[in-house]
Amino acid sequence: MNLQQTGFPNIPPRLAGLGELAENLWWSWNPAARMLFKTMDRQAWKESVHNPDKMLKELPNEILAAAAINPDYLRQYDVVMSRFKKYMATKTCPLLPDMPDPGISRIAYFSAEYGLHRSLPFYAGGLGFLAGDHLKECSDLNVPLVAVGFMYPEGYLLQRIGEDGWQENITEKLQREAAAINKVLNDDGTQLIVKVPLFEPPIYVAVWRVDVGRVPLYLMDTDIELNEPWHRGISARLYTGDPEQRLRQEVVLGIGGAEVLENIGIKRFLLHLNEGHAAFALLEQIRDRINQGLDFEKAMEWVRSTSVFTTHTPVPAGHDVFPFHLMEKYFHSYWPALGLDQDAFQKLGLHPENPEAGFNMTVLALRLSKYRNGVSKKHGEVSRRMWQSLWAELPQGESAIEHITNGVHVPTWIEPKMQLLLNKYLGPGWMADHDNPLVWELIDKIPDEELWKTHYWLKIKLIDAIRERTRLRWAEDRVNPSLVVAGGTLLDPSVLTLGFARRFATYKRADLIFNDLDRLKRMLSDRWRPLQIIFAGKAHPADDPGKRILQRIVNAARDPDMGGRIAFVEDYGERLAQYLVHGVDVWLNTPVPPSEASGTSGMKAAVNGVPQLSVMDGWWIEGFNGKNGWAIDHKEVDANRDQADAAEIYRILEEEIIPLYYKVSEEGVPNEWVRIMKEAIKGAASIFSARRMVKEYVDKFYARALQEVSKS
Ligand SMILES: *Cc1c(COP(=O)(O)O)cnc(C)c1O
Repeated sequence: MNLQQTGFPNIPPRLAGLGELAENLWWSWNPAARMLFKTMDRQAWKESVHNPDKMLKELPNEILAAAAINPDYLRQYDVVMSRFKKYMATKTCPLLPDMPDPGISRIAYFSAEYGLHRSLPFYAGGLGFLAGDHLKECSDLNVPLVAVGFMYPEGYLLQRIGEDGWQENITEKLQREAAAINKVLNDDGTQLIVKVPLFEPPIYVAVWRVDVGRVPLYLMDTDIELNEPWHRGISARLYTGDPEQRLRQEVVLGIGGAEVLENIGIKRFLLHLNEGHAAFALLEQIRDRINQGLDFEKAMEWVRSTSVFTTHTPVPAGHDVFPFHLMEKYFHSYWPALGLDQDAFQKLGLHPENPEAGFNMTVLALRLSKYRNGVSKKHGEVSRRMWQSLWAELPQGESAIEHITNGVHVPTWIEPKMQLLLNKYLGPGWMADHDNPLVWELIDKIPDEELWKTHYWLKIKLIDAIRERTRLRWAEDRVNPSLVVAGGTLLDPSVLTLGFARRFATYKRADLIFNDLDRLKRMLSDRWRPLQIIFAGKAHPADDPGKRILQRIVNAARDPDMGGRIAFVEDYGERLAQYLVHGVDVWLNTPVPPSEASGTSGMKAAVNGVPQLSVMDGWWIEGFNGKNGWAIDHKEVDANRDQADAAEIYRILEEEIIPLYYKVSEEGVPNEWVRIMKEAIKGAASIFSARRMVKEYVDKFYARALQEVSKS
């Protein structure tokens, strides 16, 4: 398949590679590549919101021409380009030495969202970033993977807080041409358009591609003229609330996605479903086998032994269940193609304990994939219990559901200045070997003062960025002064700073720390050892309870009684997440257990030396070792869980965190605190890396399932 590479007619020939570099997200996790764009014109880099595609197109020719004759710039350029070329040319995957033909046996990864970079807004939250980090790590390890998802042309909801503290959403239209997204072309130069099979009236998708290093991500877009208006809206935005449109979305994702792969020549593949939204792809795999001459049972067996399903949440609303009448409406011509009648078809999605409820996508995925996992040890246990009525159906000896704990892509989430410090003490080769725990023992060699200075610099950078945002809201949008304060104007870098940023789902209990206001206020307003808290996060547009929690926090942030020590920063996304996980002192996490399947933001913080104060849930049950942060873990539960958890947070803050943080040496370094920072890095950077995670997927699932794919 050809790609229509965005043209950069203004780039001088000596720097021709810049265009290629801008079109591959590899630059986003390689600081030297980022610097090539940034140093060319800092202001333009900032204005493009770190989007080199956009920046290069808008740069005046003089700037490009000047760079093309600047010897320093050219030296940097040549080094980066040679590294990029070498990276892209590597063909072997050391983890899969026996792979017969990587060209044929591929892993097809399906996800409804991808969090890759601020310039590609195809995500809502953690699920998306997990998927994005998975792709980046598969690229780094050269695991032969292709990914499929949606382009959401109206996907990005800019968050604004109104006068009343209520969340408002402004839809930002995606500029498809000004990002690292390219059209996939037919031989005649037109864009590849794929018809989703078996649906009347037909649904068409236009196909785009994002290059994530060596991993291609194909994005489907229904917003094209060929489709009738209702169809055009299918991919407009993530997770629509209307059940029928949502079903149509999942039909396009699973069935359309498989058809897209077929059209670009990827015919046989191992399927990895990141959550159940794309589970219809399993049906399409069965249909394909049946077309090859197998009967339903044999086809199903083949599909089971070549499919991986990762479930991501124990929260019931996270599992789609569709009414039977809608299933009938969209699938009545599909089940004959599988050789099934209506009853046998609907049964595939029935939950044995609740067969009336409808067609359950998680149940479908669990039934039709042999390799199943939760995303932390605890979540594995919870999922085994949650779906236990299904296990009676399993063949002897097959394990019900395993766990592979999530991890984060270290090159993406580690701050460049921190990376430089690590280069100095861990040796320049540490990144290549970063999932080896021994590498991280060398952290102890870093002088406390150096780590502290680096952290403090990042904290100032965070607070500067927040103040700059509020300054612009004040100067340009003339917002109410109390919102300027609430946005973080009075934040002070010398004050102990907690960070809480994530989606405002109610189970995450963003407002837990407000449980005893007087006790909290005492800590915030302490003359000598004060505390401040930075909040950020979006509520789903249809989630009013989530918005009420958010409003409560904004109103607290505006309340003069809080002294400006509470901030709510608008529009949480990848960019703000980077600032926060690099720059706060403590990362706060307060879900109602066991609702947090894994959680990943705390890992991002820990890798940068920011320890967690977290409820014992998700990854923290595996990650906490008594030295690398704090656990909210006590015996009182049930009736007054919120109150008991909040009291424990206050106790830990008052007795442990605050005294330790403010206990500084004569040189102004809190040595005991820095010890915890070092332990936080050591305890997370190898084990909770996406590298460890992807290797586990390869060992436990991919290697075995790929054998099955290649046998057939
Ligand atoms: C990492 C990340 C998340 C997920 O964080 P959780 O701790 O799993 O809630 C959500 N949004 C953004 C922008 C992120 O970077």
